[in-house]
Amino acid sequence: MGLLGAHMSISGGVEKSISRGHDLGCETIQIFSKNQRQWKSPNLSDGAAERFRQARQKLSIKNVAIHDSYLINLAHPDPEQLQKSRDAFFDEMERAEKLGVEFLIFHPGSHMNTSEENGIRRIAGSLNDVLARFPDSRVQLLLETTSGSGHHLGCRFEQLAAILSRVHKKDRVGVCFDTAHVFAAGYDIRDERAYEDTMDQFQRTIGLGRLQAFHLNDSKNDLGSRVDRHENIGMGFLGELPFRCLVNDSRFRNVPMILETPEGEKYYKKNLTLLKSFMA
Ligand code: MN
Ligand code: MN
Ligand code: ZN
Repeated sequence: MGLLGAHMSISGGVEKSISRGHDLGCETIQIFSKNQRQWKSPNLSDGAAERFRQARQKLSIKNVAIHDSYLINLAHPDPEQLQKSRDAFFDEMERAEKLGVEFLIFHPGSHMNTSEENGIRRIAGSLNDVLARFPDSRVQLLLETTSGSGHHLGCRFEQLAAILSRVHKKDRVGVCFDTAHVFAAGYDIRDERAYEDTMDQFQRTIGLGRLQAFHLNDSKNDLGSRVDRHENIGMGFLGELPFRCLVNDSRFRNVPMILETPEGEKYYKKNLTLLKSFMA
């Protein structure tokens, strides 16, 4: 009952992501707003943004999310590097605003062997900084749950709650729940009881009202592995049941549910057909 979709390539122009998603029957899509592995990218032209908005309206894609660049670390301990990340994140917000997308999804950041507490403080500081610099932005910022590899924060619901509690503009920041990451981080969702327990924990620590998007990925690694490797739906350690629960959960009606499965467009159709077949 969520809005189903997938991460789409922007090759050939940002507006191409819309028709690609539409051809696959997506109600929602996620994109990178630029090359996600480079700091500098050409500005988004007015023409491209306009073509994107028009394509979207014509093909009625209900929700669009941007995933931020992998280089950004809003928890960086070095002041200069932290500033560079904040500026790059601000640029992502500007692109999102220009494209008129609803969500900017990002990994909270790595404390880089300083401390969890310091990392959490820097992430909240970064969010307060960019939101103060861009007060009239309408883009909702979503912290993504992580698998907990290295010193990356966001693998415990408590860490996300601690970040959110320090954000001044609370209504502007929510959470994106990645099924593969949450499972690799140690939260089981493989049977109905485990699924409900995990959602209860989320409700108690963060609140389900802040859960504003999902990444639907199966996991190539087992519960608690802390390894971030996505698998096609039903083909990994999660199996079909968690996805059956999710697409039928009335609490998440109208919440975007976005595939980030391996080899992208080659298997999206199969994954989407499977997800639709789960709907009661
Ligand atoms: Mn991500
Ligand atoms: Mn994800
Ligand atoms: Zn991942």
